[in-house]
This record gives sequence, C-alpha cells and structure tokens, in this order.
Amino acid sequence: RHLKKYFPIKKGLLNRVVGQVKAVDGVSLSIRKGETFGLVGESGCGKSTLGRVILQLQRATEGDVIFDGTNVTGLGHAEMRRMRERMQIIFQDPFGSLNPRFLVRDLIAEPLRIHRKMTARQMDDRVVELMELVGLDASRRNRYPHEFSGGQRQRIGIARAIALSPQFILADEAVSALDVSVQSQVLNLLRKLQKELGLTFLFIAHGLNVVRHISERVGVMYLGKLVEVAPTEALFAAPRHPYTAALLSSIPRPEPDRKRERIVLQGDVPSPANPPSGCRFHPRCPLAAERCRIEEPLLLQDESGRAVACHFPLS
Ligand code: SF4
Ligand code: MG
Repeated sequence: RHLKKYFPIKKGLLNRVVGQVKAVDGVSLSIRKGETFGLVGESGCGKSTLGRVILQLQRATEGDVIFDGTNVTGLGHAEMRRMRERMQIIFQDPFGSLNPRFLVRDLIAEPLRIHRKMTARQMDDRVVELMELVGLDASRRNRYPHEFSGGQRQRIGIARAIALSPQFILADEAVSALDVSVQSQVLNLLRKLQKELGLTFLFIAHGLNVVRHISERVGVMYLGKLVEVAPTEALFAAPRHPYTAALLSSIPRPEPDRKRERIVLQGDVPSPANPPSGCRFHPRCPLAAERCRIEEPLLLQDESGRAVACHFPLS
C-alpha cells in the first residue's frame, strides 16, 4: 500500500545528496492467494525494486506491505526471519545466482540448513524429493552447477526457492536468460508447482508475451508507477492505457490480417530522478493533451476490476 522506494543520488568527495531516484513512487496493489500476478515494464521502471521491497529485501521509503494479514514492514529481525520462510525469490540469472563451489545437493539444502533442524538423512531425503518435484535427476545431486544446462540450473534455483514450502514466490525475470523453448518448459514447471503446492506468484518480466500464458492478472509499470492493472485476457484484448497499447503493438502477432493499430513510442524513458510533470508518460504519449502535462492521473478501478491511470483511456 502506497509503496515508495527512493534512492539518494550522491555527488563529490563528501557524498553530498543532490537528488533522489524515485524508483517506486506510490504503488498500491493486491495479489490474491493462489494467483500469478504478472508485472511488466521496460527496464528501469521500478518493477524489480517493487518486488524486492515487497519481499523486504529492501526497506520501503514509505508505505506498507501486508502479507496474509500481517504488516511485515515493521517486523523485527526474528519475526522477519520466520516470515522469510513463507516468501521466497527465484532470480533471473541461473548462472550467477548459484555458488559454483557448492554441490547441487548443498545448494538446495542451504535454506533447510538455515531454517530447519534436520538430520543429514532427512535433509538428503528432502533434496531428492525437491529435485524430483522440479524434474531433475536426483542421482546427480553430488555434482556441481556447471555440469547442468541453463534450464536445469533454473530448476535448481526453483528447488531452493520451494525448499521451505513457501506460500509466495517472487520470480524476477526468472526465464529471461533462457532460450525460448526452455522458457516454456520452465513456465510449465512453475504452473505445475503452483497447482500442486498452492503457491502465489509475483512474476516480473520486461515483456508482455512472457507473462501472458502464466498470469491471471497483469500490472504495467512506467517510471515508478503502476499505470494499468487488468485480467490478462482483457488486457491483451483491449488495453486501456496508451503505454500498454504501445507495449502490445510491439509484440509480433501471428495473424497479420488482424493487425492492431501500431502505437510507436517516441523518445527514451525519462530519468526517474526527474520525472515529467503531470502524467509521466506524456512526453512519449501520442494522445497527450494539455491536461496531461499538468495533472497527474490516478489509478482508478472500475466495477470489472480493471484499473487505469490515464485522463483519456482507450476503450
Ligand atoms: Fe497519455 Fe494523457 Fe493518458 Fe498520460 S494521461 S497516458 S499523456 S492520454
Ligand atoms: Mg529488473
């Protein structure tokens, strides 16, 4: 609720604070139990920072994170440690996020070692069980991560993330580094695990095509703000925010006869240290009017549960 995350910009020998990067600038959203919420936007829009703030990997500058009825924003170290078991993360880079000196067995067991009291035998049984759950050959548990392919390493990361039986998982660009064919295998695995384990996902990606087949709802971010939230199919059928429409029209479509009118984005994303006045999208928006330069549009929700922050939404 009303989450903000600002980073100071420091300059000179004295590290004088000369400004702030408003990475996340007033975002409210709810993720429902058991759903996958897809969060998209160009790089630098604040989506990863928002995810990290939700998981309390970074403290919010302002606002609250309510998890299953508990405000986790103010929790102390010990309480947060218990909460941490229930909220996990799958990282983007299956190459960089696994320590190459650890056996796969130990990488997967690490969260268990930190959070659970288990005998070596119990731990080994759990590692075998987890590897089977994510579709890995458990007889290879005494090998090193470099002996596995990119897709298999991402499965190791997923096994680690589910080791403590969490309820909520943040997948930050979890398939972005993988080949397209491997991407769909990993997405299928995440869906299967969601059903079997009753997980809730926040699935972050820079492209809409990745979230389409995995998310029930999608949120679109632009320069630290949420600009549209909608059920996935409704968003793809008829985007309401001009920015969403622009993101969609850049996806190659299989049927050329039903071409969507192309909205081409002008210019680059402005700096989040000095966002444009009024609607932050106005310098790039083909529909921008005088009002857009002055008045910031609020994210307003209609009866159908769709929300858009635009003075002149598309219908
Ligand atoms: Fe475009 Fe104006 Fe809507 Fe912003 S408020 S997206 S500038 S039409
Ligand atoms: Mg990111």
